[in-house]
Amino acid sequence: MGNYMIKQPFTIKSQVTIPDHLIKEVQSKFAYVDEYIANATILPDGNTIELELRSEINKQEKNNLEEKIQRVVLSMVKGAYQPKVEILEDYLDKQVPYQSDPNIELLKRQEISQETPGVFTLGPLVTRLIEYFETRFVELADSFAAQPYRFPILIPARYLQRVNYFRAFPHSLSFATHLREDLDTIDHFSQHAGCDAHGNLTAAPDSFSPIQNLLSPAVCYHLYFALADQSLPEGKMIVTAVGNCFRYEAINLTSLERLWNFTMREVIFIGNKDFVLENREIARQRMQKVFQELELAYRVESANDPFFIGEFRKQAAFQSAFQLKFEIRASLPFKNSTLAVGSYNYHQDFFGRHLNISLPDGSPAHTGCVAFGLERMAYAFLAQYGFDPNQWPLCMKGLI
Ligand code: ATP
Ligand code: ZN
Ligand code: MG
Repeated sequence: MGNYMIKQPFTIKSQVTIPDHLIKEVQSKFAYVDEYIANATILPDGNTIELELRSEINKQEKNNLEEKIQRVVLSMVKGAYQPKVEILEDYLDKQVPYQSDPNIELLKRQEISQETPGVFTLGPLVTRLIEYFETRFVELADSFAAQPYRFPILIPARYLQRVNYFRAFPHSLSFATHLREDLDTIDHFSQHAGCDAHGNLTAAPDSFSPIQNLLSPAVCYHLYFALADQSLPEGKMIVTAVGNCFRYEAINLTSLERLWNFTMREVIFIGNKDFVLENREIARQRMQKVFQELELAYRVESANDPFFIGEFRKQAAFQSAFQLKFEIRASLPFKNSTLAVGSYNYHQDFFGRHLNISLPDGSPAHTGCVAFGLERMAYAFLAQYGFDPNQWPLCMKGLI
């Protein structure tokens, strides 16, 4: 085996050309292809894939990795067509004062401290920013007289199964378990459990009970599950909640941009099709004024969810065709790119059908939500306005 050790990094030529509009999406999926992959980049030609590995691998492992890469590319690219990106608001050209990478300053000021990849403790500045943006999002919720809810962090596996979550997003799931209710198991654990050099807990896998619960990946799901198998007496509902979300994004977990554990504020609409679509649109227009006041450089454009490889092509095309998702993409000047800080979503009657939530006329309820990523909002703001409050927009004067 030693003879065949592959030196890192190396490149692969993709069998098909990855079109421009899919490069980011395909690249992000490489994080889940093989545990050897430490970094994977698709070059602008759409054919060359540069790979960095965590450790050396032998020829057979390399062939296996290469085959999986080709398989991902083929299944995401074959038959894909470029959806027309619809732009609803465009303020990307807005001049902003800061151009540097906020991560450097955030670390220097000990404003962020990483516990594990994608999991951060946040300091006073970031916390105050998040609290401020929260007040703005809550104002939006109040403008709809949305009813407040609090949802748990855990979510039962059988709930997620009911809405086909395992098919759509298996790669980003996070699981929760506990020790079995057994004196010997608990005794043994208390005496012997520890962490090895990699931080892995050294306990026998059979110490743990079967997995029945996960860490929740979204906020609004909890509301739909609470309403399952019911008829909505009023035929409509508007709810708001803030909550922890968990999405394991593997090597894509970088700084506050992409977290394993993040928080989301949502305003959720349930009713008939017109009710949901009209309110989603009103929410967008109200937020347009808020983002204007915040002097954010951003754009609202049509998008799709990061479905698992096998589901991606079909589902993404479906979402695009029916305008089910619009993202608020804030500019990150230091890397000349954008980051989704929120989204306006319409699920049609998907949850109504799968969870048997009905309207007074017996038809399945339609649902939609507007969702804001709080850490990303603070991060994008700092990337545009920096750390000197004198440079901040008028509405934020006196905040710090
Ligand atoms: P992306 O395309 O960047 O992965 P998404 O489409 O998965 O985002 P949504 O499901 O629309 O995101 O979630 C709503 C908001 O939650 C996003 O606009 C973003 O602000 C935030 N969010 C989603 N995933 C993460 C994450 N891993 N880390 C931090 N914030 C996130
Ligand atoms: Zn939602
Ligand atoms: Mg997205």
